[in-house]
Amino acid sequence: MLKKKNLVFLGPPGAGKGTIARILSDETGLTHISTGDIFRAEIKGGTELGKKAQEYVSSGGLVPDELVGDMVGSRLAKDDCADGFILDGFPRTLPQAEIFKNVLDKIGKKLDLVVYFKASDDVLLKRLTARIICKQCGLNFNKLFSPPKKDGVCDECGGELYQRADDSLETAKDRLEVYYKETSPLIDLYRGEGLLLEVDGEQDKMKTYPELLEALS
Ligand code: AMP
Repeated sequence: MLKKKNLVFLGPPGAGKGTIARILSDETGLTHISTGDIFRAEIKGGTELGKKAQEYVSSGGLVPDELVGDMVGSRLAKDDCADGFILDGFPRTLPQAEIFKNVLDKIGKKLDLVVYFKASDDVLLKRLTARIICKQCGLNFNKLFSPPKKDGVCDECGGELYQRADDSLETAKDRLEVYYKETSPLIDLYRGEGLLLEVDGEQDKMKTYPELLEALS
């Protein structure tokens, strides 16, 4: 049984948040909420929210705080978050952290831990630009470090693999810049609140996962 169940995964793009969140969710039942995945699905579905988010997502900029805040607020209030959640990619700005606090107060939940995935720009850019993702099940592969068994095909479900448009070198660099400017101040915020756990985002996931599990138990 986990002692810490309401979690935020914080860190630059490509540091492994999504990969570890997925494993942790599969193994423990915590609900994985990736704001990036939600936006991509809304864009694909052509919804109102998707139309509003599109230009920000494709340029590597941030979707306005109010839009993200409303979306996360309603998502966290759903029943499947009652037994814990992993927020992957939210909050991403200081105002979002404030919105998040208010959302938690409103729905009577408390944040247990912020897991900060630390990695150098070199590693992040290498990973992002070689990342390929399954269209069907969302599993991540990497052309350099963890290629699929068969080119272009997901090992898990046989789905087609694609590269995210915002994983091009240019947009990945822009996203890192946005991260340092807008998101990295959250590290000190949560450290100051005694909620931060730092993990090595460069090491193999098979090392990070058990370390994290122990910290949550
Ligand atoms: P990700 O999959 O986390 O890399 O997110 C992909 C894109 O979705 C980001 O580059 C942003 O455009 C948008 N996005 C995801 N989460 C947020 C957030 N919390 N605040 C603003 N924009 C976000």
